[in-house]
Amino acid sequence: MQQGPRNATSSKTTQVDTTSSTLLEDKNDPSIDSALLLTDLVNVQTLNPSIFVDLKYATTDNFMNMKLYDRLKNGYLQKDVAERLSKCQDYLSSIDSSLHLLIYDAVRPVSIQTKMWRALDSIPSKERGKYVSNPANKSLHNFGAAIDLTICDAKGKALDMGAEFDEFNEIAYPTMEAHFLAKGELTQQQIVNRKLLRKVMKSQGFRNLPTEWWHFNACSRNDALTKYKILDKEP
Ligand SMILES: [Zn+2]
Repeated sequence: MQQGPRNATSSKTTQVDTTSSTLLEDKNDPSIDSALLLTDLVNVQTLNPSIFVDLKYATTDNFMNMKLYDRLKNGYLQKDVAERLSKCQDYLSSIDSSLHLLIYDAVRPVSIQTKMWRALDSIPSKERGKYVSNPANKSLHNFGAAIDLTICDAKGKALDMGAEFDEFNEIAYPTMEAHFLAKGELTQQQIVNRKLLRKVMKSQGFRNLPTEWWHFNACSRNDALTKYKILDKEP
């Protein structure tokens, strides 16, 4: 079936109450902050409150339609990774002061990664690795060295990227954008929006996955293994 360009945000608008510090305070659980600090993970919003956070796995609004996180509500990353992301936000603000990075997922405990891997067991494991890292191999998310994110406006409305977060189709592949533009399934504006996200993230050395417009790695897996600890479960 031929599909026209889609407005990926029209059906599901990300609702983030940005008015305030109150939201941040409500979401902050000091016991989690301190437990995670022991593993060198920091809450990104304490470094840069201009970054918005809407952890999709803390809600049922995700590909599993299941709330996966019991306690995690904030975006936690390795400190140096969070500092780089903060600079990305500053760069984005310098381009357009009304725009914000909006984090969908940051550190992800191995226990949650395992749940996701099992949930996708209808996909052969070689294919499955395109969408969720095999927990046996460790994902950079497990270290707090990968981020899933988009860009949103001051009200928290995500820019239209032409495919939803965690959409497991080729239309979500950055490598296939020219193809879908030619077919009329992605618009120029959707690609401009994705390029803006990539430009901002690349400014601090983050690398985009070829199959997910929203996923950026802070370093290689080998670097993460030598520099960082893994988060096995929620604190
Ligand atoms: Zn990711």
